Amino acid sequence: MRCPVCKVPMIIVEHEKIELDYCTKCLGVWFDAGELALLLESLDLQVGELNISDIMTMPEKAIAEKKRRCPVCVKKMRKAAIGHEPEVVIDVCPQGEGLWFDGGELSQVIKQHVDKSSDESGISDRVVTFLGEVFQERE
Ligand SMILES: [Zn+2]
Ligand SMILES: [Zn+2]
Repeated sequence: MRCPVCKVPMIIVEHEKIELDYCTKCLGVWFDAGELALLLESLDLQVGELNISDIMTMPEKAIAEKKRRCPVCVKKMRKAAIGHEPEVVIDVCPQGEGLWFDGGELSQVIKQHVDKSSDESGISDRVVTFLGEVFQERE
């Protein structure tokens, strides 16, 4: 699979049974729809707003960011704004095959969706650890 931004081949990273495609050049991450659901599940993330099917059907966000093509079906992806303060705009396959996060966007989004005051089980720390472990394996 090629990176939708740099067009170079991405590497497959497997961690705790979750597979994702990772671009070592721009640090972007591609998730198949099911893989992101698995990730949220494995981290025990109960974040209502971060629901995969909702993201997939979210109305297109009108911004100037360049359209990118889905690495799976090559159709132009839709922009979906899933964060707030600051807004994080990710790219979503119009056929619902997966999602693209630019480098750093994934941890940003997850951290935004974890309510720190009620984060007694340390979810945000787990997320950071997970991402750190995943990407550290590449060095
Ligand atoms: Zn790239
Ligand atoms: Zn696609």
